[in-house]
Amino acid sequence: MRIDLHTHSDRSDGTSSPRELVHEAVAAGLDVVALTDHDTAAGWDEAARAAPEVGITFIPGIEVSCRHDDHSVHLLAYLPDPTYESLKQELVAVLQGRSDRTPRIVAKLRELDYDVDEAAVARHARGAEAVGRPHVADALVEIGAFTSRDEAFEKLLSPGRPAYVGRYSPPLRDMVATVCAAGGAPVVAHPWGRHGSSSLQADVVADLVGIGLVGLEVDHQDHDPQQRRELREIARELGLVVTGSSDYHGTGKTDHDLGCNTTAPEQFEQLLASAAEHARTSGRSTPTVEWSLPSS
Ligand code: AMP
Ligand code: FE
Ligand code: FE
Ligand code: ZN
Repeated sequence: MRIDLHTHSDRSDGTSSPRELVHEAVAAGLDVVALTDHDTAAGWDEAARAAPEVGITFIPGIEVSCRHDDHSVHLLAYLPDPTYESLKQELVAVLQGRSDRTPRIVAKLRELDYDVDEAAVARHARGAEAVGRPHVADALVEIGAFTSRDEAFEKLLSPGRPAYVGRYSPPLRDMVATVCAAGGAPVVAHPWGRHGSSSLQADVVADLVGIGLVGLEVDHQDHDPQQRRELREIARELGLVVTGSSDYHGTGKTDHDLGCNTTAPEQFEQLLASAAEHARTSGRSTPTVEWSLPSS
């Protein structure tokens, strides 16, 4: 039983359509795949329609861009009701912040003599709901300024680099509560990835558990073996679900192949139970998942 709970389609910054992604998941030997595009549920319907064609279990999710202590933190929301007003409003605000940011990044790049414009970024975004720096990076790669998204982030687009521009993101604590109220199960994505472990230590995680946090994404390519051990221990002490996932972005991110990290079936079952509990207590009508642990 192979379960991958964190992937992106071209509705955000992945490169496969939701349908292609589901087909790729089967080809990669997965039994369960979650689509967790940044800040949007726009790919859910297409993925949900494709899943039965190929006999895979599809889990709808959203990776919500949040902030904590001035650091960006990503919160995975599994099976929330995306029509829940507070959640919907926050996602609209984040998506608007993304769209508003693009011309500001482009202006900085032009000041730095990079010949990109908004139309080029839009072309690379290909109608994605969540436009982001990866699409700007693609435009920079296209003009030959860099050879990869990675290099464009490193030189220009990451915090502290010359073309970095911030954008709106909701406070992490508020979003944990909002996801629970939407009948979903919140899990912190790659808690110690990229920004280091400074802002999300055990006491912060414990505080989030009090608000309804359900799990930690421990097995992620951003975490080394030692970090995984420490995060697993924090999760154990706090009774949190441990997930493992690829954070697949198609060809947009290397070393994140589908199934490169997976979630244990018992952990997945606990995650579903928590989502069901939140759906019951919130009274929200959330997507249902028909799934059972293999008997063997
Ligand atoms: P944004 O959504 O505009 O804030 O950009 C953040 C996204 O860019 C993340 O979700 C990652 O998928 C991607 N990203 C961040 N750092 C890098 C990097 N060094 N190389 C490639 N993609 C990156
Ligand atoms: Fe991404
Ligand atoms: Fe992320
Ligand atoms: Zn992601």
